[in-house]
Amino acid sequence: MGQTLYDKVFDAHTVRRLPSGQYQVLMGLHLIHEVTSPQAFSMLRERGLRVLYPERTFATVDHIIPTHSQARPLTDAQAEEMLQHLERNVEEFGIRYFAPSRGEQGIVHVIGPERGLTQPGMTICCGDSHTSTHGAFGAIAFGIGTSQVRDVLATQCLALDRLRVRRIEVNGALRPGVYAKDVILWIINRLGVHGGVGYAYEYAGEVLDRFSLEERMTVCNMSIEGGARCGYVNPDATTYAYLRDRDFAPAGAAWDQAVRWWESIRSDAGAAYADVVTMRGEDIEPVVTWGITPGQSTPIGLPLPAPASFPESERALVDEAYRYMQLEPGKPVKGARIDVAFIGSCTNGRLSDFEEVARHIRGRRFRVAPHVTAMVVPGSQQVRHEMVRRGLDQVFREAGFDVREAGCSMCLAMNPDRLEGSQLCASSSNRNFKGRQGSPTGRTLLMSPVMVAAAAIAGEVADAREVFGITGTTVT
Ligand code: SF4
Repeated sequence: MGQTLYDKVFDAHTVRRLPSGQYQVLMGLHLIHEVTSPQAFSMLRERGLRVLYPERTFATVDHIIPTHSQARPLTDAQAEEMLQHLERNVEEFGIRYFAPSRGEQGIVHVIGPERGLTQPGMTICCGDSHTSTHGAFGAIAFGIGTSQVRDVLATQCLALDRLRVRRIEVNGALRPGVYAKDVILWIINRLGVHGGVGYAYEYAGEVLDRFSLEERMTVCNMSIEGGARCGYVNPDATTYAYLRDRDFAPAGAAWDQAVRWWESIRSDAGAAYADVVTMRGEDIEPVVTWGITPGQSTPIGLPLPAPASFPESERALVDEAYRYMQLEPGKPVKGARIDVAFIGSCTNGRLSDFEEVARHIRGRRFRVAPHVTAMVVPGSQQVRHEMVRRGLDQVFREAGFDVREAGCSMCLAMNPDRLEGSQLCASSSNRNFKGRQGSPTGRTLLMSPVMVAAAAIAGEVADAREVFGITGTTVT
């Protein structure tokens, strides 16, 4: 019986079986940021421990960094203090830090891949739920808690349960105006926000095969929103082309050796899966969430679902969602007046996201509606630099978008970018929980970046295919 990539990578990194039945697993790469690492470093100090593999540990600042200006000291004294803690910790423990002052800073899940740190066959962890993003390269990557951050700093290992593997195949082709974000929102809608609990998701099929690495990252990023601890795509020529010549990628003879290893860890043709789910790319529509979980979503053209159409066990949450979001079943989400539009985050804050939106607005006299605040926030300083080099920042500014500095921004609002009152936000981020974007009554609608741009221009939730006249042949 063949093996999956998950099983091969898990086995290759297993140190031993623990008496508890769990496995002691070596972590190849540990990414840290300012929010979940301070306590872990304090615990190391208290116990007189050092970081075992500083060369496998990399740090950045993303959640708290303001996006209007990164000038020091930060205007928020608490944020400045957190940043100084991080700087002291990386200095004391000898950890490579991607500092804003060097133009290397960004969201942890954007800079890992763009620097070539994220590679196939790795085990990767970070004190952040959306570490699943890195699975796009064929890595086993997942979020961990603060005490586990301490464990990995001190031992480079974690005690883990073995997951089952569900293969999710999306075959055929996507229709124009349908993006990777729609694919993952569609999957979560079908399988549920708890459907992946106990699973690793292996994404496959013709649509995933044709996706770029950045599109695969968007899909893997939201695995955790479907309950899966991690999600991955088997590495292939697209993966290797993305990685080649990046700062931390292997070079010379080491590159050839690495590619041989990467090829060997792909899931075997006859691999055994816990189950296999198949979907048709042609069936997928642009998706918008209407509720307070990423699974409460609808194709843009349909009326919002009746509470009675949900299982009894979900109805209380559905009622709560309608009350909180101030939306009505039976009516379309299309046409809901928005206040804020946000394009960014570790789901959709990469160069290709901004390029795709710019492709639709460039030279077409589109303007953000007067009542909408529209923000474009690059996922890293490198992405921002490239946007400026290609003139994308100008395209966005001319259309009325505010182009900011790199960071998590309004995805989580641990910085000055926050919703106010019950503002409704069209957002390219990954979570629409109550209060997620800073205001306890703020409301979030998740969608693709192109759909966010369409909503910003229309001033209300809109079908981007209509706003931008997206037609043509079938694409990925
Ligand atoms: S962009 Fe959002 S989801 Fe991603 S790391 Fe930052 S706060 Fe977390």
